[in-house]
Order: sequence, then C-alpha cells, then structure tokens
Amino acid sequence: MFQPITYPSFFNKKLFILLFPLLLNIGQLIGQNNIKNCFTSTTNFNPALQEELEIFTKNYINNPNQSAISRGKITIPVVVHIVTQESEVEILDEQVHTQITALNRDYNLENDNLDRIHPAFQDRIGTVGFNFCLATIAPDGSPTTGITRRTTSDRNIFSPGNLWLYDTNEGGQTAWDTNKYLNIWVTKTDLFAGYATKPFQNPPEQDGVVISPRFFGMGGLATPPFHLGRTVVHEVGHYFNLSHLFDDGCEGNDFVADTPTQNSQYNGCPNIDESSCGSRDITANFMNNSEGECLAMFTRGQAMRMQAALIRARNGLINNNGCEPNLPTVLGDEIKVYPNPASYYFIIEVGNSTLEQIPYFIYNSKGAKVAEGLVTPNSTQHFPTYRNGIYFIQFLNRSEEPVVKKVVINY
Ligand SMILES: [Zn+2]
Repeated sequence: MFQPITYPSFFNKKLFILLFPLLLNIGQLIGQNNIKNCFTSTTNFNPALQEELEIFTKNYINNPNQSAISRGKITIPVVVHIVTQESEVEILDEQVHTQITALNRDYNLENDNLDRIHPAFQDRIGTVGFNFCLATIAPDGSPTTGITRRTTSDRNIFSPGNLWLYDTNEGGQTAWDTNKYLNIWVTKTDLFAGYATKPFQNPPEQDGVVISPRFFGMGGLATPPFHLGRTVVHEVGHYFNLSHLFDDGCEGNDFVADTPTQNSQYNGCPNIDESSCGSRDITANFMNNSEGECLAMFTRGQAMRMQAALIRARNGLINNNGCEPNLPTVLGDEIKVYPNPASYYFIIEVGNSTLEQIPYFIYNSKGAKVAEGLVTPNSTQHFPTYRNGIYFIQFLNRSEEPVVKKVVINY
C-alpha cells in the first residue's frame, strides 16, 4: 500500500529521463489533482493464511461476544528504525514520540476534529482500542528507547520492493521480530509517503510500515498539511488489514460493511457532503488520503476488522509485554517463604507484582533443579518438602536479576 508524495523534489535529470514514461503517467495524474493513491502490492506471501484470516474476521464480526477488546487494554510495542541519509537532517526522538501520541489519539477516538465527520456517520464512528508504545525491552531482553538509528548512503532511497532497508548489512536496519513488534522504518522514500504490509502479505522480515520523514509525527520535519501523524495512522490501518475505501472504485470492496463504496480518493480537504457511487462518502475516514486536519474516524466495522487481524494474525504483539516499564517486576520483599526451616511443607507467599504470574525454579544445594512452576501475585501456595537440605528458589524477574530465596528443610 503506497501513499504518494504529491510533489517529488529529488529527481536528477538522468533519473528523470529514465523514468520519463512512468513520470508522465504520474505527472498527468498529479496535474489532474486526481492521484491514484496507493498502489496495492502484488506480493502475496501466504494466501492460505490470508484466506483463513478473512474467514476468522467474518466470524469475529458476526459474533459480538468475541469482541472483548475494550479501550486502552491492548498495547502494541513499536520499534522505530530511523535510517537517515548522510546528507539528511536528523530526526529527533521528540518527533517519534509525537507519532506515538498521534496513533493513540486516533485509535482511541481522542481526536478533537469530529466536526469533520458528516452527521450521517456519527453513529458509525469506531474506537479501535489499541494503545501504541515505544518498546522498552529489546528482543534480547535489554532496555531500549524503542528507537534505532542508522546512517545510510545518499543513494539509498526506498522504493517498495527494495530489500536493502530490511538488512543492516545493506545499509538499512534489520527488523526486530515482526511477530512481537510493529516495526516502523522512517527513511527517505521515492514518490510515496508511506508503505505498509497487510498480514501475511510479505515475508516476516519485511513486515511493517515505511514512512518518509516529512509525513512522520507531528512537528519537527513533518510538513503541513500532513503534519498530524495521520499518514502513519492510515498505514497502520493497512498493517491491521484495512483496505482503502476507494480501491477499484464503485466496483471495489474493502470487506467492511459500514463503509460506503467510494469511486476515488479525495485530495486536499474535501467537503463532508461529497458523494459517489450513489451514496454519501466518509471523506473523513482515515483510509482516505485527505489532509491531516480533515481525517477523523475509523468506522466500527473497520475497528472490528483491525481487532480481528490483531487477534488472529498479529497476536504476538499482545503477548510481548515489550512496553512494560523497566522496573523490577517483582521485588524480593514481596516474596516470603515460610516456615523456615520447614518440615512437611512450606509456603510461598507473593505480594504485589506487575507480572500476572511469576516463574519459579527450585534447586538443591548441588544446583540440580527439583521443581519448577508458576506462582501468582497476591496469593499463597503450599509445597510439599523434599529430603533434608538447603534449597534455593529462584523467581524470574523480567528485566532484573532473579529474586532468590533460601529454604532449609529439616524434619
Ligand atoms: Zn493506503
């Protein structure tokens, strides 16, 4: 899915001649202010899984009991790879943070421009309920800001299909496990503002969003009228399996029941009264490509489609916990083992923890593991004892040294 930059500014003459036939076409479209917006990728990495996801999505939407996602409960860990050209201005962390803010605003209906939505669509406004956060834990378990930085050759301008971007050895940045992180690459792009992969559309190592710095975040290098982070809001919509409202015109189908068919995309800031294909259009829908100020909503149907994609195709994001604060997740003080010495049983009592369950391992004095399992915070658990001796119980902390307790068994 590509969103074109409407004013290509970086052509040299040679490139222009080389690409002239293509440019002519695009130029005509730009000239008519009727840009064919996102070219659908022809990649189809796993059609069987795509089909299965489509079936799951239908069932999910038809069975409201399944729609258990409530606002703010789901956290999506994001890693932003900034791949800057040698001659380019650096993108500050602040610009990255504003993009996360923009995603959370628009995916949780916290935007204040609902007046851009025609009254006829007020009851279709959906809340997706995803929270986005910069990862705090890297794939190797180390603390991270959720931002990586690379400088690359000035020749490296991304076009969809280029693989250099996904490879640290080729001047790009290799993805973090795309099952566990939403990877966003910020880099100079060729003709397009943004590019995203739908579930199973590309190989895992190329899965995520690519965005030009001018369309990324709010403030900084983000350039009006695309300075509200909404190009990424749109691209992340694709990432969660949304299509455009206007693909294939009046004959098209975005597989969402409450989005009216739309003949073509809108540019600039359309009148909210526009219609096509015999019905009023949701000009303010994020899956249009209007100016940032003029985009304001997903529909309920789109929200559910995205939720289904998360549950079925991208559930590794939910289970990652990659945004937990880098604090001890269980403190030694919160764990008590008694009686000590113990004779026939001992008790492990766990107080508060940010973990839902805490893995433990019990070792004898020779270092051999005699037991393992899970304990739950705010609970006590009885254990039968082992033969006489000293035992060490190790409780796993996610980002700190494990907590170790000693118990002496003597009966
Ligand atoms: Zn698009």
